[in-house]
Amino acid sequence: MNSSKKKLWNNFFSHVYVERDAYDYSLTREILSKLRYREIIEINDYKSAFSKNNQNFRIQKNSPNIIFAVKKENYIYKGAKVCESFGNDNFYYTSSIVNCIYNCEYCYLQGVYTSANIVIFVNIEDMFNEITNFLKNDSMYLCISYDTDMLGLNNITGFIEKWYGFAEKNKNLTIELRTKSDNIAVLRNKNINKNFILAWTLSPENFIKEHELLTAKLENRLKAIKEVISLGYSVRICFDPIIYIKNFEEEYGDLIEQTFSYIKNSDILDVSIGTFRISKEYLKRMRKNMEDSSILMYPFTCVDGVYSYSEERNLYMINYVKNLVLRHVNDNKVYI
Ligand code: SF4
Repeated sequence: MNSSKKKLWNNFFSHVYVERDAYDYSLTREILSKLRYREIIEINDYKSAFSKNNQNFRIQKNSPNIIFAVKKENYIYKGAKVCESFGNDNFYYTSSIVNCIYNCEYCYLQGVYTSANIVIFVNIEDMFNEITNFLKNDSMYLCISYDTDMLGLNNITGFIEKWYGFAEKNKNLTIELRTKSDNIAVLRNKNINKNFILAWTLSPENFIKEHELLTAKLENRLKAIKEVISLGYSVRICFDPIIYIKNFEEEYGDLIEQTFSYIKNSDILDVSIGTFRISKEYLKRMRKNMEDSSILMYPFTCVDGVYSYSEERNLYMINYVKNLVLRHVNDNKVYI
């Protein structure tokens, strides 16, 4: 068992909040039966436990609670401009879970939410219904793991099985599951659906140790990738976000060499490369929580409300990584 899983299963959740309406869902009972907790608190509206202003995301992150809720509206959202659509039309994302068991220093969720508590929306069937209605007229490209790491949390939620089953029934739906986990047991023994894309974010090992706390080690992510490739899955590699760190060239050089010692061009669907970028409002909140973060306190440049490295620095970082990737992967598979 890797360290991230050990941490998750050794750590029980001190408080579990359950919206009154959420009690009626069998999924709530199913997930509750897998949790260890000190106390259940019934609430009327999950926002009373989640959206309070006097919370500290960073402190809660050390010991998050779980909230069961029923999502009332906004089941799917249009993909943001700063996110890659990989040439797909009708790019959407959905949040059946909000917040994450991992603790990445640069995670944008700490800029979006005031709470690090994990919200599980148990009316997943309502999301499926809305997507099914959309699919009657059009295809959809849907990212399901932007606001969490769904694979990392799957031992509790079982949501991967539900999304996988839903994707199998809808041939004009392409799903992307993004992860930093190696928790792939759920992906074994399935009928392979090439439209269910497994996308791994990869970072240099030293960076993972210091800044992507509780996530799977690089080597373990690569072993997981190799295994799912052998099972026949569509796999995407994401060098995104690239962060300007000490010994940037050496660290990212080693990362790319190590990655492609495990994976061949023909094994993967594509590669995504992108530097750290974040909306102005989110960065403001993140910096307030993490004044000691060298990643977040970098003097970024703001263009059209989005902070990133200067144009020159961005170009250098992207070209450096891209040129190394192109030694192993065909140009037409690389998205920037
Ligand atoms: S794995 Fe993703 S969602 Fe989870 S903390 Fe890291 S950046 Fe945030």
